[in-house]
Amino acid sequence: MAVERTLSIIKPDGLEKDIIGEVIGRFEDADLRPIAMRMTWLSRQEAEGFYAVHADQPFFDELIEFMTRGPVVLMVLEGENAIERNRMIMGATDPDEADEGTIRAEFATDIGENTVHGSDSPENAEKEIRYFFSDTDLYPDRAQE
Ligand code: ADP
Ligand code: MG
Repeated sequence: MAVERTLSIIKPDGLEKDIIGEVIGRFEDADLRPIAMRMTWLSRQEAEGFYAVHADQPFFDELIEFMTRGPVVLMVLEGENAIERNRMIMGATDPDEADEGTIRAEFATDIGENTVHGSDSPENAEKEIRYFFSDTDLYPDRAQE
């Protein structure tokens, strides 16, 4: 297994539910280490650009309204098999279909307000990380004790 990087977003409902620490703790417990992090309030333009692949979906307007209604936390997670393992920890898009113990099963409101985003492939991870972060924002190397 290779060390990978993936983009994680704690969505506005996650901040409204006061579970930033809970979510990040789950990633750290699974050895998915945040190597970059920023709280921001996405503009409509940023959200539409990020979710451009869904522009033709019937839920697109609802998704953009939701993602811009409050601040989000953007993170780059690094670890073994990070892309797939992050998706496992998140659970299925629809919380009713998400495995027990996953973030979405425990915290999501519904299929739209589902608390977290995670990149779904190496190509998209690279694209999504670059959308929000530059190389100088990433801190993969930490001082060892
Ligand atoms: P995922 O986030 O699990 O990769 P998708 O890429 O299919 O899911 O969709 C992106 C986001 O769009 C979802 O996380 C969710 O916030 C929203 N979404 C997806 N399907 C629906 C739907 N049927 N109704 C409302 N919002 C949806
Ligand atoms: Mg997706």
